[in-house]
Amino acid sequence: MNAACNNIRSQESGNNLEFIHKDLSQWREAPPEKIAYAPKEETIFLSGGLTLLQDRLIESALNSLGINYLSLPNPDFTSFQTGKAFGNRGQCNPTYFTVGNLVKYLQKLRDEQGISAEEIVRKYVYITAGGCGPCRFGMYITEYKKALRDAGFEGLRITAFEHNKGIYQGEEIADPLIEYTPTFFITLIKAVIIGDIINILGYKMRPYEVEAGSVDHAIEACRKLVADAFLQKKSLIKTMWQCRTILEKVKLNRLQPKPKVMVMGEFWASMTEGDGNYNLHRFLEAEGAECIPQPIINRLMLSLWEAEQKLHHNETLESETTKTVDFSNVKTRVMLKAAKAAVKLYFTLYAKAIGLHDYHIPDIDHLAKYSKEYYTLECEAGEGHLEVAHLVESVKENLAHLVISVKPFGCMPSSSVSDGIQSLVTARHPDANFLAIETSGEGAANFHSRVQMALFKAKQAAKEEYEALTIPAHIPEKVHNYLYQPTNAKAGTAARLIASL
Ligand code: SF4
Repeated sequence: MNAACNNIRSQESGNNLEFIHKDLSQWREAPPEKIAYAPKEETIFLSGGLTLLQDRLIESALNSLGINYLSLPNPDFTSFQTGKAFGNRGQCNPTYFTVGNLVKYLQKLRDEQGISAEEIVRKYVYITAGGCGPCRFGMYITEYKKALRDAGFEGLRITAFEHNKGIYQGEEIADPLIEYTPTFFITLIKAVIIGDIINILGYKMRPYEVEAGSVDHAIEACRKLVADAFLQKKSLIKTMWQCRTILEKVKLNRLQPKPKVMVMGEFWASMTEGDGNYNLHRFLEAEGAECIPQPIINRLMLSLWEAEQKLHHNETLESETTKTVDFSNVKTRVMLKAAKAAVKLYFTLYAKAIGLHDYHIPDIDHLAKYSKEYYTLECEAGEGHLEVAHLVESVKENLAHLVISVKPFGCMPSSSVSDGIQSLVTARHPDANFLAIETSGEGAANFHSRVQMALFKAKQAAKEEYEALTIPAHIPEKVHNYLYQPTNAKAGTAARLIASL
């Protein structure tokens, strides 16, 4: 902006732009004055931003460890506006939603419950995940601190576990408040995995429920059981078995040829269940589709795979310069293998207990083979090569009638993949029904109408697939039971069931 513009804007808006002539000061994360924070036993931890079910299960899981933890409500449009009001310009959409959600929550504590900002800063700690980027994920902690400062909560503590940097407890946290022990991570992962499994089943069942709302009702009953199991330290496997009996009672009519829609794209935008993606999953279901969601375990497996690749790269470099064995690399390799084995084991045990048989944890090496001719596997930002792999996989293995890639406005990695690389994939696979769609926080009508247009073709494909089959004279009752999960070359659930008879 030149000086003339500045003058005009200054005259129009009074003295709002006085800061332009002031000296710029260095940004500092630590608060200027020392704050007398509350002792551990009075501290309240906040976090959130996963699926609705996972946020609540994590709350129960961490409470079971004696951590005074609360999950924030699901980010909504007001969170987004709050994020924009207090955040830096030019951030990606998930930054605004998640940062704004924290600020909105604290403002409510202050304005509706009458807790002073000083008391909130003293008592509350926000837990987040972090990373180095190279996308905006690397700036999340600073973004939180900037927005908190400008909203009047400067000094509120942030602690993070970063998949590639370790643990961040904040400059202002001398005595770590959260012990990021193996027990902490195992409990957290169990809650995430169970949430993934129940969510997958919910998305498989809800489109076919005979009585509207019965699946959500059953899932809420399952959530209560699992939450109680965490808090009472009961067997989670037995609890998942009890959930199976609850889900089995839900009446389904699965012989409806509905289009299957894979929802993928940027991690947060494709996973969130609210205004962050204009309630995409529920919108698709209301329009007569069945969603294939992206479980969080996929991102977890990708992170572990990326860490292994990096380690392999380092070892190869070191072996060229030295003959000695670096034991820290050996330790890292063992830990990565143990983490992968644990995730797979817990997932398999819980999935079998509740009756999810046809979902397989993604084999990232297999997916990398699909994407490597399109994407440089070493590029880690966003979803890495997963977005490309999912599209190729869905075409080659006939998994869905439509693939939607949700890319947040301002997202660097997702935009380059969806607009750039996926164009080449669809050019080579013209039978792919692919829609890359941006979420800006505003413009829901435009977003939904584009989804409806893509769904039209998907609905036709699902109907044709089903009508091409010979329907047997006698159809056994088992096809309506969610536990019957045959796998074959058909994409649609109804077609797959008929083809299995
Ligand atoms: S992947 Fe995109 S949306 Fe997600 S944090 Fe990075 S820049 Fe933001």
